[in-house]
Amino acid sequence: MELYSGYINKLIDELASLPGIGEKSAQRLAFYIINMPRDRVARLANTLTEARDNVRYCRECFTLTDRECCPICENPHRNHRLIMVVENPRDLAAYEKTGKYEGVYHVLHGCISPMLGIGPGDIRLKELMVRLESDIEEVIIATNSSLEGETTAMYISKLVKPTGIRVTRIASGVPVGGDLENIDEVTLLRALEGRVEL
Ligand code: ZN
Repeated sequence: MELYSGYINKLIDELASLPGIGEKSAQRLAFYIINMPRDRVARLANTLTEARDNVRYCRECFTLTDRECCPICENPHRNHRLIMVVENPRDLAAYEKTGKYEGVYHVLHGCISPMLGIGPGDIRLKELMVRLESDIEEVIIATNSSLEGETTAMYISKLVKPTGIRVTRIASGVPVGGDLENIDEVTLLRALEGRVEL
């Protein structure tokens, strides 16, 4: 027996397929949406489509942006010879919030995870190597301190070293397994300042 209408079930299924949303949250959201005024639902649906259609990857650093090149990469006052490698745009945002980092970024969109079958070819590593063909002084690896983050850091350092470019890793004041975005700014800055040569 169908507990709810087919439409509600469909909505719950769609919501539950999103990361971090379990069956219960999906039900709660679905009932909330059903009770929202029609114009708000239309606005939400429209916002989703608009975001999907207009957001793209920066052609330099691969963060998400509305333009061909993100505001950080376009900024002539940033140090374009200093590249910080992060796993995702949220980590970039965490470092940007400190307001103290002057270089640019490279967003990998994931990290190497043999367990999940994610290899070097599945993240934006090739694109990083292309960037290193220009005049780069230092690559700071700021992947998370999880097993996958460390594996990725080691892999990148092995790739970059032969180029003669300085490779550093942010200090591990960052709790093991902790996502960069959840760590406070002071800890982030300390990790950046205490970075070590690889
Ligand atoms: Zn960019």
